[in-house]
This record gives sequence, structure tokens and C-alpha cells, in this order.
Amino acid sequence: MQDTLTKKIFDVDEVRKDFPILNREVDGKPLVYLDNAATSQKPESVINAISDYYSNYNANIHRGVYSISIKASEAYENAKIKVKEFINAESEREIVFTRGTTEAVNLIAYSYGLENVNEGDEVIISEMEHHANIVPWQVLREKKKAVLKVIPVNDNGELIIDEFKKLLSDKTKIVAVCQISNTLGTINPVKEIVRLAKEKNKNIAVIVDGAQAIHHTKVDVRDIGADFYVFSSHKMYGPMGIGVLYGRAELLEAIPPYQTGGDMISTVSFKGTTYNDIPMKFEAGTPNVEGAVGLTAAISYINNTGFEAIHKQETELLEYATEQLDLIKGLRIIGTAKEKTGVISFVVEGLNALDIGIMLDTSGVAVRTGQHCTEPLMDRFGIPGTVRVSFAFYNTKEEIDIFVNALKKAIEILR
Ligand code: PLP
Repeated sequence: MQDTLTKKIFDVDEVRKDFPILNREVDGKPLVYLDNAATSQKPESVINAISDYYSNYNANIHRGVYSISIKASEAYENAKIKVKEFINAESEREIVFTRGTTEAVNLIAYSYGLENVNEGDEVIISEMEHHANIVPWQVLREKKKAVLKVIPVNDNGELIIDEFKKLLSDKTKIVAVCQISNTLGTINPVKEIVRLAKEKNKNIAVIVDGAQAIHHTKVDVRDIGADFYVFSSHKMYGPMGIGVLYGRAELLEAIPPYQTGGDMISTVSFKGTTYNDIPMKFEAGTPNVEGAVGLTAAISYINNTGFEAIHKQETELLEYATEQLDLIKGLRIIGTAKEKTGVISFVVEGLNALDIGIMLDTSGVAVRTGQHCTEPLMDRFGIPGTVRVSFAFYNTKEEIDIFVNALKKAIEILR
């Protein structure tokens, strides 16, 4: 499918019309949705694509000889081509559909990790990782008696790259880091991290968790140079329940399947089984065709909006909201990196983040509170949790005004 540039001039009021949920009210107040890092809202084109699939060509794929199954199979395969082009992978064979980022990291840990990491070997992650990029490596550590090392974060919420250099050793087998922190908004220098790891030893596998990056910035996996790159559809305006594991073909070919069953096999007999080619080798069972169709539509939507417009709008929102929040007495922003995307975490002296979140909801403002699946990062900053607002290009300055006024009111009442 060829995307056409339908929105030459970015007009946020026009863009908002594409997202039906943004019109709704919460207790008589307009919904102000500022929890985009948790999940994004979906444009009508994505909702319609999924509805069209179920209304017109729902069928199981890869097995049917009849026309709607063939159409569904084509849609599924086209989704891989779409993703391949979107992230500039070399081949659609390098695109594995998973349930999301979490399953993709688990797949790498169980498949690549169990195969390549042995007693005493080292895995490096960072202090700002989401639990999805911590716990699978802890499981691997237990299973293989490996060592888990952690790149520290400075007071601004930036990775300390000099410390990373020191952590790299002859024992390092895997480096797994996020491109953008879901809690701090920090943009990490992943290309440099890959370069440093590969300079140490070209066989170190580098995994980039792109869950918070894929919809904010143009991702070119070959330019980044990582061996694996993972992300979730639902954070990039697509449906839930589907995500992507990109892996260099040569690595995917070398590692064993993570789950087994139908579709991932080539031949089965009671003597033994041979596996399908990549990427099918990693996709046991009926896949999420609906998800693939929705993800295709989401990528088209992003392409047609354009990363330049997305970046401009989100940067303006970040700067505007930061200025407003900095004026509130007793409020401290956690995460003040030089390179930052549209996420602001903050604490208010003497107040509980959860209480603030509940109060904001009474004004129709949806934010996230708590640890954001980054408990070790909260420990690093010595705080129990934060309030987090996260922006998408469909948010407006007027919404930030509503949020800031509601926050001031909440602080006044709670104090
Ligand atoms: N990694 C990061 C940086 C995230 O922000 C998230 C979700 O918030 C995940 C991983 C897990 O993504 P999912 O729950 O879609 O598997």
C-alpha cells in the first residue's frame, strides 16, 4: 500500500477529528488524555481497518485455499512489508509479530539468551529500563548463573555513558537498553551504545527497546545497528495485542524457536519435527491478523502525518508544559535530560501521586501515577512514584492549560 501525504499542513483541530475518543466527555468535562506513554488513542482509519477485516475477510491464514483466507493471509504478510519499510529493515523475513514489546524481549531472552549466555557471562541493562526489559534478564541470570550489570543514570535522568564503557567486558554477551525512557522521557544515544558494544566485541548482541520511540521519531534499524529492535503497536496508534521483534536475519536463523506448535513447523512426524523458515519459526499458532491489519493502518497514519509535524507539535507541548509546571511551588520534575521527548514525570512536596491523579480525573484529565513499571528507577531517585503526563501530537496547549489549572486546584485542596 502506498501512503499519500494527505495532511500537508499540520492542523491539530483537523487531526483531532481523526480520533473519535477525543470527542468524549468524562462526567460532563472534555476528556484530556495525557497518558499516551501507557497507550495511544486510535484514529478512525485503524478502527475502520479492523472493522473491515471482521466484516469482510475474517479467516484463518496460511491454510485456506478460499478467497477470504487468501486475502487475510495477504493482509498479514503485507503488514510485515509495511513494518519492514517503516523501520528500514533489510527484509520482511526479519519481522516477527509478537504480542508486544514484553513478549519480544522474553523471546530474545529465552531463545537467544538461553542459547548464548553461560555461567559467568554478563548482560548489561540500564537503571531506567521498564520491568519488561529487566525481569526476563533476571530469569536468564537465574537459569544460567549469569551476571546482570546496570548502567547508572545521573541526576538529570541521563545514562552515564562513561560507566557503560567500564561495564563492557570480555564476558559481556548482551546489552539491552531502551531508546526512550517511559518514565523520564530521556532519549538515549542508542547508536553510540551499539557502536561501543560492537567495538568491544562484535558478537555482543544489542537489543533496543523502542516501545517509546517508534512513534516519536523515525527509526532506522540499520542505521542504529542493533541486532534486535522491539516495540508495541498499541503505543503507536495501532491496536493492542500485537508488537514487533525485528532481528537481523542471520541471528534469527541461528536461534531456536521460543514457542512451538502449528504454523511454525515445516514437517512433523513422531520421529521429529523440522521448523519453518524465519520469521514463521517464531510465530506458533494462529496469529493476530486483526492486529496486523490495524498496525498497517497505524503506520499509514503516521507516514501521512509525517515525523516532522509530529516532532514539532510534541516538542512545543513538552516545552510549554515544562514552563508551566516549573512555576508551581513544591513541584519537582524527575527527568530533565537535554535530549527529551514528550513525557514529564513529577512529584509535589508532601503530596501523594495517586491522590493527585484521582483529583485530576475529576476534571477529566487522564494521567498516570505510580512507578510506571520502573521500580528500580524510582529507588534511584528515592521516591515512591510520580505523576506522569505524556503527550501525543493530537494534544493541544489548551489541554495543557486545563491540566495545569486542575493540578493547581488539586494541590490547593490536598494541602
Ligand atoms: N518498554 C517500555 C519502554 C515501555 O514503555 C513499555 C510499556 O509501557 C514496555 C516496554 C512494555 O510494553 P508492552 O506492555 O506493550 O509489552
